[in-house]
Amino acid sequence: MIQKPKGTYDVFKEQGKKIKYLEKLLSALMEKYNYEFVRTPNFEATELFHRGVGETSDIVSKETYDFLDRGNRNMTLRPEGTAGVVRSFIENKRYADASLPVKNWYYGPMYRYERPQSGRFREFYQFGVEVFGSNDPLVDAEVISIPVNFYKLLGLKGIKVNINSLGDTESRLSYKEALINHFRPHLDLLCDDCKKRFEKNPLRILDCKVDHELDIMSSAPKIIDYLNEESKKHFEEVQKYLKLMNIEYTVNPNIVRGLDYYTNTVFEVEADIEDFGSQNVLCGGGRYNGLVEALGGPSTPAVGFAMGIERLLNALEAENINIISNDLDIYVIPMSVNEKAYSYKLCQDLRMNGFNVDIDYMNRNIKANFKQADRLNPKYLIIIGEEEVNSSILTIKNNNTKEEYKIKEEDLIKFFDEVISYED
Ligand code: ATP
Ligand code: MG
Repeated sequence: MIQKPKGTYDVFKEQGKKIKYLEKLLSALMEKYNYEFVRTPNFEATELFHRGVGETSDIVSKETYDFLDRGNRNMTLRPEGTAGVVRSFIENKRYADASLPVKNWYYGPMYRYERPQSGRFREFYQFGVEVFGSNDPLVDAEVISIPVNFYKLLGLKGIKVNINSLGDTESRLSYKEALINHFRPHLDLLCDDCKKRFEKNPLRILDCKVDHELDIMSSAPKIIDYLNEESKKHFEEVQKYLKLMNIEYTVNPNIVRGLDYYTNTVFEVEADIEDFGSQNVLCGGGRYNGLVEALGGPSTPAVGFAMGIERLLNALEAENINIISNDLDIYVIPMSVNEKAYSYKLCQDLRMNGFNVDIDYMNRNIKANFKQADRLNPKYLIIIGEEEVNSSILTIKNNNTKEEYKIKEEDLIKFFDEVISYED
């Protein structure tokens, strides 16, 4: 038997309903903020990720799915969404849009060759936003507020927002120097990866999952003490807006994020739920003012975040939050095959009038059909026998209250319009 590739998963039944529901909520949420949906290819030129995500990041140095296509081009399955959205922003000259900022959102699969475990897959789904063209701290705060508000809307309680600032280029340079001086005498204590990071990008050492408990990590200089006046002011303003929106947060100097392109604000939201497990970072992001230029566009400030859908589902489950709604409005039951054609015609009319309708396709007898109705749990049943077909007066049953109604076929749509309300 052929099995699914390691680190992937199939979606069906309850899981499928949950995911479809989350996707619906995410679209509706983005409408509220007036963000624009964008979609970019699932694979891109390998070079895009090397330049966009950075050579020293874990993602590029050990997690990408690379392949040569049949035309001998180096291609990579996208490990994250930002590089592609930035490429698209530049390639489509979105920087020339009259209505800046360009506020994008995306949703789709990402691919990373990682060790699979709970909350960590090789194919996983991310929802994210990228906002281009404004350096205003208000936008940083809005981008932080989107996932936080989303989790609140879902009823998730155990979340913790960590923020930090990496400062602008000037602040980062002086911080980098301080880090080099701090780690140089202790290089032998660090893992092999960190020894490389020391040479290429010492900030990444702080993000190491192997060395994070060493004393030299906690005693390392803090970026906060190296921010210049401008960066400090930007960070304070971000916090001012977060307070305005009643978003609780912690300034955590160890948040440096796994990607190379961040400047100023960085943040992560973690699940703060007992026994949740170690893959507890639900989303992360920050400002990346240098990336558009680094990928060949005009210097453009930008800020964004990405959230993993699988970890969100885990968090909802851990808090016993059931997000499945009952979407089936009507189940149509023909009493025998003689009523099948009439019933299916009715089914079609109801669907075209906006109702969610299912019908028996298995020629079940009436008893088996009531059992099927119990499994499907529709709001209403329509039971169609010979008498109903002849008289065009239909028997409708409320599946909750078990109340029965006799409704003329011509009044059916009006009846359901009144009793079934649409929230979306
Ligand atoms: P981690 O430190 O957990 O590896 P990361 O820094 O690599 O996370 P990002 O690149 O910032 O993660 O991706 C944003 C979000 O995407 C994460 O917070 C997480 O929810 C999700 N995510 C990242 N990698 C995976 C994966 N392999 N499987 C499932 N979800 C993932
Ligand atoms: Mg990772």
